[in-house]
Amino acid sequence: MKLADLGEFGFIERIRGAVARSEGTGVCLGIGDDCAVLELPPGQVLLTSTDLLIEEIHFRSDWSDWRALGGKCVSVNVSDVAAMGGSPRHLYLGLAIPADMAMDDLDAFLEGFLETAADYGAVLVGGDTCRSPGPLMISVTVEGAAPANQIVTRSGARAGDAVYVSGTLGDSALALQRLQSGWPVADELADRHHRPQARVALGRTLAEAQLPSAMIDVSDGVLADLGHILDASAVGARLEKALFPLSSELSQALVEEPALFELALSGGEDYELLFTLPVAKEHLLASLVVDVPITRIGTVTAAEQGLLLVDEAGQMRSVKAKGYNHFRG
Ligand code: ADP
Ligand code: MG
Repeated sequence: MKLADLGEFGFIERIRGAVARSEGTGVCLGIGDDCAVLELPPGQVLLTSTDLLIEEIHFRSDWSDWRALGGKCVSVNVSDVAAMGGSPRHLYLGLAIPADMAMDDLDAFLEGFLETAADYGAVLVGGDTCRSPGPLMISVTVEGAAPANQIVTRSGARAGDAVYVSGTLGDSALALQRLQSGWPVADELADRHHRPQARVALGRTLAEAQLPSAMIDVSDGVLADLGHILDASAVGARLEKALFPLSSELSQALVEEPALFELALSGGEDYELLFTLPVAKEHLLASLVVDVPITRIGTVTAAEQGLLLVDEAGQMRSVKAKGYNHFRG
């Protein structure tokens, strides 16, 4: 079946029918009217963020698993809420769909989307649906909430703070590189690319304890994303290669090809949390119950120092925060 057989309104009805029940989530009115009607917990502020995903730029339809893609769209968007210390609550899905897209693929996409949304406790409450004359285009908006005094921005890092990151770095990029060159890739590593997890629980736990001075999610690689914190906070930083948390897969790959360390620096799409922390609060980390390891990788310095990388031999070099730039290729 094609979308044309179902029509726009049939399709929206299908989405509405698939959305899980939403009691207790503050959704007074979800999909189906001109607007959604939503309530926030008293005293909390609204956090919103939007991501665009375009076929051929962010994903390729020929090897994407549609269900995984639906889930990934949710996770990358929810990751922004996690990075502010919030909990995701509502999602909006804008779709521009090529007329010949198979309904089975769309259904799988929606299944992954809704399943992953439910995992994060978020409800799909609206969106828009159009025909695309070209690629599939997906716009996802998330709304989250958090107590106003617990929001963590990019701008609070101070010289002397410790720099921490969750999980391991570079796995998504390693998986992508290997998948693209046809290597066999273990499921666990492939999942780091196809099924990233937003670190919502960690973000909430850190924010609730009011520990981070600044926080961001690692979507474009540690150098680029730390670069955003440094710019916003007007500070510099010194990172130590030897402290970087790496998976066994990347560590093994480095034995043969040391240059692959670049993936841990600038690989992107890890969706780990990167945060700075006043050293006086560092001892409080030990008492937090977290579902993912966190590792200190460096120190915030004065702005004049820029971003420095210390290698295993203690040699220091200045690095540029290189991320993916859509308009520079
Ligand atoms: P309008 O013409 O007022 O924009 P639509 O017919 O586009 O209304 O949408 C009707 C309802 O369906 C709205 O509640 C809208 O949020 C929802 N909706 C439309 N497309 C999607 C989608 N892709 N995902 C989720 N909800 C959608
Ligand atoms: Mg509309």
